Amino acid sequence: MASKNDLLKFVEQNDVKFIRLQFADIFGNMKNIAITDQQLERALEEGVMFDASAIAGFSEVEQSDMLLLPDPDTFQLMPWRPQHGKVARFICDIKNYDGSQFPGDPRYILKRSEAKAKQLGYTFNIGPECEFFLFHTDAEGRPTNKTHDAAGYCDLAPSDLGENCRREICMVLEDMGFEIEASHHENAAGQHEIDFKYSDVMTAADRIMTFKMVVKIVAQRNGLHATFMPKPIYNSYGSGMHINMSLSQNGKNLFNAGENSMDISEVAKMFGAGILQHAKGITAVANPLVNSYKRFVPGFEAPVHIAWSHMNRSLLMRIPAPKGEATRIELRSPDPSCNPYLTLALLLEAGLDGLQKNLVIPAPVDINTYNLAPDREKELGIQRLPSNLLFALEEMKKDPYIKDVLGEHIFTKYISAKEAEWASYNSIVHSWEIDRYLSAY
Ligand code: GLN
Ligand code: MG
Ligand code: MG
Ligand code: MG
Repeated sequence: MASKNDLLKFVEQNDVKFIRLQFADIFGNMKNIAITDQQLERALEEGVMFDASAIAGFSEVEQSDMLLLPDPDTFQLMPWRPQHGKVARFICDIKNYDGSQFPGDPRYILKRSEAKAKQLGYTFNIGPECEFFLFHTDAEGRPTNKTHDAAGYCDLAPSDLGENCRREICMVLEDMGFEIEASHHENAAGQHEIDFKYSDVMTAADRIMTFKMVVKIVAQRNGLHATFMPKPIYNSYGSGMHINMSLSQNGKNLFNAGENSMDISEVAKMFGAGILQHAKGITAVANPLVNSYKRFVPGFEAPVHIAWSHMNRSLLMRIPAPKGEATRIELRSPDPSCNPYLTLALLLEAGLDGLQKNLVIPAPVDINTYNLAPDREKELGIQRLPSNLLFALEEMKKDPYIKDVLGEHIFTKYISAKEAEWASYNSIVHSWEIDRYLSAY
């Protein structure tokens, strides 16, 4: 961990003028306050006050003053900002003004879950696969969902028009300490994926936040609009954020059943069983938008059913053939609009619940479930993910472990905000209704 003095020295010697204090709200939106280099010492010692009542889901006006406390481990230069009078950032923890813990800080929720795992000697490792679209802006600079790019999965330039932008995103991320494992053009026109190396869960959640910020900024500098909206185009692929998970102890991957085994370990099976068990309740957090559920339709490599397989990409969970220390579980439902701190805390605790209760994972499903008739679904005992945000919120309320993990504050604020979002969507007359009904009735 970088010490206060090292940080202050670095800032002075490297001509850093502004420091952004970043934090996430309960919906996973990044916010920030900028301070100057002169204020940094005080900020590191005492924190910086902000008005939490102006942040949706944080607090009411009566108790609005809160503190941002920079986490020294998250210090990074923002390489795209001017080199003279540089800009750096910290990701912050959030405390009440009296120094007590603020229960609405999503980072705190993940820290609490991580501490439970640590107590059992476990490290939860996460490798995310973030997908996003690069679109044009219109004449006024507003975002559109149009692209001239006509490329598909793993195509090259010249049909991949996002190649230069994707390259620049990877280079900026590397400057910020990311190890980029792979990047490619995804299935849909204008769609891309960049994968960075797995890490412990808190680092991964912070990196997902940083990743989204960098993608948006670099796209804007290239005259493009980047979006993590899960399904920006009807009848095409949506954007997911597959989460690759493993659990290690003393540096050994507990999902590995041994170099010569063709199977995954019992720990992996119980952990996976826990996630399947809580899959419905987690969905409103891993897939937080009305639009998230437009992605869960057959035919676009997004999951519809709660089942797992070794290879099948139509399912919620994939456990690829064991590869020794790289053995992992891939959860395919989360989308990149989710709050990574809350989603990963829920996944960790769902897995731990599976371990604690010795849950048994159901048999793998090796058929393409996209075409499964409802009676066949019943016969096989395969359930579906909630098909819209309202159903997902109902599942969230039904599963008591969700509130245990998120705590009363976030649980209550999250549900009431999302119910309002659903009510707003539901009261609006959409163009689909006009097209379908106006002349027919
Ligand atoms: N875009 C797909 C999804 O929605 C995934 C495609 C892939 O990575 N194979 O999850
Ligand atoms: Mg991938
Ligand atoms: Mg992909
Ligand atoms: Mg994947």
